[in-house]
Amino acid sequence: MAPPPITPPDLLSAIPPPVLCLLARLWAAGQSGYVVGGSLRDVLLGREPADWDLATDARPDRMLEIFPGAVYENRFGTVAVREAGEVYEITTFRSDHDYADFRRPHRIEFGDSIELDLARRDFTVNAIAWGAQAANPGLDREASASAGKPAAASSGSSATPPHLVDPFGGQADVNARLLRAVGDPVARFEEDALRMIRAVRLATTLGFALEPATRAAIEARAEVAAHLSGERIAAELEKLLAAEVPSTGLDLLARTGLLAVILPELAAEHGIRQNKVVGEDLWRHTLRAVDAVPVGRPVVRLAALLHDIGKPATLADGHFPGHQSAGATMAAAVMARLRMPRSVAERVVHLVRNHMFPYQAEWGDPGVRRFIARIGEDALDDLFLLRAADNAGSGGGADPLLDELRRRVDEQIAARVVLDRSRLAVNGQDLISELGVTPGPGLGHVLDELLERVLADPSLNERPTLLLLAQSMLADEG
Ligand code: ATP
Ligand code: MG
Repeated sequence: MAPPPITPPDLLSAIPPPVLCLLARLWAAGQSGYVVGGSLRDVLLGREPADWDLATDARPDRMLEIFPGAVYENRFGTVAVREAGEVYEITTFRSDHDYADFRRPHRIEFGDSIELDLARRDFTVNAIAWGAQAANPGLDREASASAGKPAAASSGSSATPPHLVDPFGGQADVNARLLRAVGDPVARFEEDALRMIRAVRLATTLGFALEPATRAAIEARAEVAAHLSGERIAAELEKLLAAEVPSTGLDLLARTGLLAVILPELAAEHGIRQNKVVGEDLWRHTLRAVDAVPVGRPVVRLAALLHDIGKPATLADGHFPGHQSAGATMAAAVMARLRMPRSVAERVVHLVRNHMFPYQAEWGDPGVRRFIARIGEDALDDLFLLRAADNAGSGGGADPLLDELRRRVDEQIAARVVLDRSRLAVNGQDLISELGVTPGPGLGHVLDELLERVLADPSLNERPTLLLLAQSMLADEG
């Protein structure tokens, strides 16, 4: 027996007024209009949707008539409409054809029925719609186009009261917390291999299980994920890492065989032993470290995922010499392959390279200042978070020594002493005009040397002192 349908009044209160307003305008114009996809799924789950997906039988040109000021988004029939200060996307019903290379469709065909549109969607819980159908699907549109005025004038409003359309049992799967492919899972994953990664990502963020045949199909066809573009994988990975407990999904990627295809460098962590948590391998350590990073820190989570990526390749006699610099190089290559933004990649590489930073209580303040200068003030928070997550991943609790370093770092920052070249009392231009230094790498070396001296003794940061020091450095080199 199907579960009792969620009644329209419940949905009415869960759908925001601007979205209802857009639907009402479609209906009044004699068109079908539905809330569909991930947004309806989230409403049925009582979650706040990330965005609202609307679908209609109106072709894009017709939508531009109904919603003056709307703009075409793409060739797939998506139009962006502004309502109550927000932009909403409305997509014409369509079916997808001619998949090649296990990627996106090469040809789409607009349609008149919501059922056809739902059939192209990936999972049953994403293939439910709520809304109303046009009085005469396909007819009003043309009548109005030739009359040059909205169809509402002739047809009144939609023929059916708003209702749920659920041809694939999506509601039952919502209630059972099951992610199930629409149609034959193997065929659907061969059409578009990204659906396998979406399955793992959605199961993780929604707290769903993979329906057994859907999971078996992923295990059988994981290799076709090799054809996916880096960008599409990265977009799903980013959402997966934002889950409450990302290790669930990362582990599912590993167990289904997807990880070995999309991130073989990380799959290589499986079975690498290290003397941390008894009986746990490097992969388990990585998963624990990722989970230990707070939800709102995506860059640090990514860094935690990649922090020990250099270990399998550097393993020698039970140790991993230089794994942090080997790892930094590998992390850069992985992120370039996934076409991640350079700003993110640079931060992550820096964190991976420095995650093993040493610290001893005997350090003097100059040592603390040199540490800040080497890491950079902007990266300190991230690095401390990563190190704490790394410790947690090794089964350790809070590290008093690390807390002490953090305190000492904050003290130095609060003292507003010089921690980088920009705050030196002289700059390159001063050295050129006052001492006749010629621009070039030598100039940079002098400034670095001055910074070293000021980190050791902040009282040296006076213009005459630094000019004198620079003069003697140049004389020594001379
Ligand atoms: P999220 O909550 O992250 O937005 P979502 O399921 O809404 O998840 P979107 O990328 O916003 O994901 O896609 C919107 C809808 O489009 C999906 O719910 C699904 O119906 C459909 N869809 C998205 N990607 C695919 C795909 N690769 N194959 C088939 N249908 C897809
Ligand atoms: Mg969505």
